[in-house]
Amino acid sequence: MLELDSTDLSAFEAAYQAAQKSLAEGGIPIGAALARDGVVIAGGHNERVQNADPIAHGEMSALRAAGRQKSYRDATLYTTLAPCAMCAGTIIQFKIPRVVVGEARTFDGELELLRSRGVDVVVLDDQRCVDMMGRFQDAHPELWAEDIAE
Ligand SMILES: [Zn+2]
Repeated sequence: MLELDSTDLSAFEAAYQAAQKSLAEGGIPIGAALARDGVVIAGGHNERVQNADPIAHGEMSALRAAGRQKSYRDATLYTTLAPCAMCAGTIIQFKIPRVVVGEARTFDGELELLRSRGVDVVVLDDQRCVDMMGRFQDAHPELWAEDIAE
C-alpha cells in the first residue's frame, strides 16, 4: 500500500475546504478533490440541498468538475468521508487507483468493496472530519438519512 506523501495533505485540504463551503451554504458537509501528483484538478462537494441533486455526492461533484480525463490511472481521489456504494462504483468504473478518506467512523461506506477491486484506500481518521459529520448528523438526522437512503 502506498503511504501518504507530503502532497496528499494539501490535496486533502481542498476536499475539506469544499466540505466546509457546503456546510456554510446549508448543505451536507462532504467534500472531495481529484488530484494528479498532488496537484488538484478539481474539487466538489455534496449538492443534494443546493441543487436538489441526489446523485451529486462530493466525489461525483469533484469528478464532474474535473471534466473529461484521458485516464485516472495516475490520479488520487480525496474525500472527507468514506465513499458510498454509488461513489465506490464510480471509482471502480473509472479505474481510480487510490482513494484517501478523511474518516470512516460516522459512515463506514464501501471501503472493502474498493479494496476487493484493487483500490489503494488510505483512511486518515481526521478528527476534524469526524467532528464535522458527527455534528451534522446530530443536527440534521433526516437529511443525513436521505443522503444514504436509510
Ligand atoms: Zn457517495
